[in-house]
Amino acid sequence: MEHKRILIVGGGFAGISAALVLDRKRLPGVTVTLITERPHFEYHAALYRLVTGSSPLEVCIPLREIFAEKNVEVVEDRITELRRDQRTVVGFSGAEYRYDHLVLALGSETNYFGIPGLKEYSHGMKSVTEALRLKQHITEALLTCKVDFANKVEQICDANFVVVGAGATGVEMAGELIVYARKLALEHGVDPSLISVELIEGAGKILPALPAAFTGRIEHHLRGLGVNIFLNRTIEREECEEIFLRDMKMRTKTVIWTAGVRAAHLYEAWGLPIDKRGKVAVDGYLRLKDDARVFVAGDGAATIYSGWAQTALYDGKYIAHVIATHLRSDLGMSHETNVTLPLYRPKPPVNAIPAGPEWAGVLWGGMRFYGRVGWWLRRLADLQIFLRLLPVSKAWKAFKNGSSICETCSVCSVEKTAP
Ligand SMILES: Cc1cc2nc3c(=O)[nH]c(=O)nc-3n(C[C@H](O)[C@H](O)[C@H](O)COP(=O)(O)OP(=O)(O)OC[C@H]3O[C@@H](n4cnc5c(N)ncnc54)[C@H](O)[C@@H]3O)c2cc1C
Repeated sequence: MEHKRILIVGGGFAGISAALVLDRKRLPGVTVTLITERPHFEYHAALYRLVTGSSPLEVCIPLREIFAEKNVEVVEDRITELRRDQRTVVGFSGAEYRYDHLVLALGSETNYFGIPGLKEYSHGMKSVTEALRLKQHITEALLTCKVDFANKVEQICDANFVVVGAGATGVEMAGELIVYARKLALEHGVDPSLISVELIEGAGKILPALPAAFTGRIEHHLRGLGVNIFLNRTIEREECEEIFLRDMKMRTKTVIWTAGVRAAHLYEAWGLPIDKRGKVAVDGYLRLKDDARVFVAGDGAATIYSGWAQTALYDGKYIAHVIATHLRSDLGMSHETNVTLPLYRPKPPVNAIPAGPEWAGVLWGGMRFYGRVGWWLRRLADLQIFLRLLPVSKAWKAFKNGSSICETCSVCSVEKTAP
């Protein structure tokens, strides 16, 4: 029997989901290898909580925990080249990896749209490293604010936090940040009334992709917390301590850029077909149209709901089914002579948007929930995702870590950990 190799590139939602489902299929004579650049999985949906004091243990899950006792080979390498004619990918390490089926799940990266100064001066929210850097910066800004006590103008600049982009990431960040920064200010002897959080959106409403009947309540809640929302404002440039919007400018030392993501640049660099949204064009089975051995999953695939963790998990599972169906017929395990592959059917995600401590808006089909109920539904969605990646006891631990405070202020040595 010919040995088959399934290679998955990317240890995020889509890649891990594909690997776990393939492992459960127990296909004889098949090796499943997951190649990824980091030894851990990053749970992006909780990054804002990491910035505002929660434990990093919820956001960062080691791959060895996810794949303990699984028949999946995990390799740490960054893939730099795709050689479709030779059916191999090449890693930064120099190693070459051969495949019979390849799943590309590289995710997305920050897009600054070429706006001057943003890349140099703003803070991103795409990784644990960026989130921790931002957390440290917030504390430092408040301590500078304390030192500047004799200069009100400087103090206002120090304590002004600007979040650009009122999509889900911007909304959750702004809502949590206003409460967190005021608390931190009090702890560090800074007047909390100096704190301001500005949320800037280019469209005419927050959460532009969602219905106004749903987003109105979230906007109202954010304003109630004290977040200043600016709509119909686009960013023109950023300088060292200033951000320039259409018709206005703001002084600030902290700009958090959440308004732009694009599919990993490698897809384009490898010459894959890219659609208008910058994502890889795929056929009805999430494969390249001219290469049935190569699948694209998650944020990189040009599907209607890509850009959501839920979609990425769904894609990974779907691709695993397609590959398994294909291999089973190849290996003679299927009793059917003419195996038909199931077409990809996009699944709309549930929108669960936190907007401040213990408050979230949830849009689930035709139903809407707000406030603490919404918050608990959102936490249950977190738990559901952990359960899809980890055994029950570990999933519960990761979920519980989301409620733990883990504050280590490296600047003033205030240390707190609470269960
Ligand atoms: C701040 C934030 C909040 C979010 N909140 C939500 C939310 O609440 N709900 C929701 O549904 N979605 C949310 N999302 C979106 C969600 O995180 C993404 O849709 C999801 O991560 C996409 O999964 P993926 O597998 O395509 O990519 P990722 O999860 O990003 O995984 C990509 C993986 O590929 C690896 N990789 C990349 N390039 C290479 C390479 N060349 N070689 C090897 N490995 C490589 C990366 O290191 C990473 O491990 C949020 C995103 C962000 C940034």
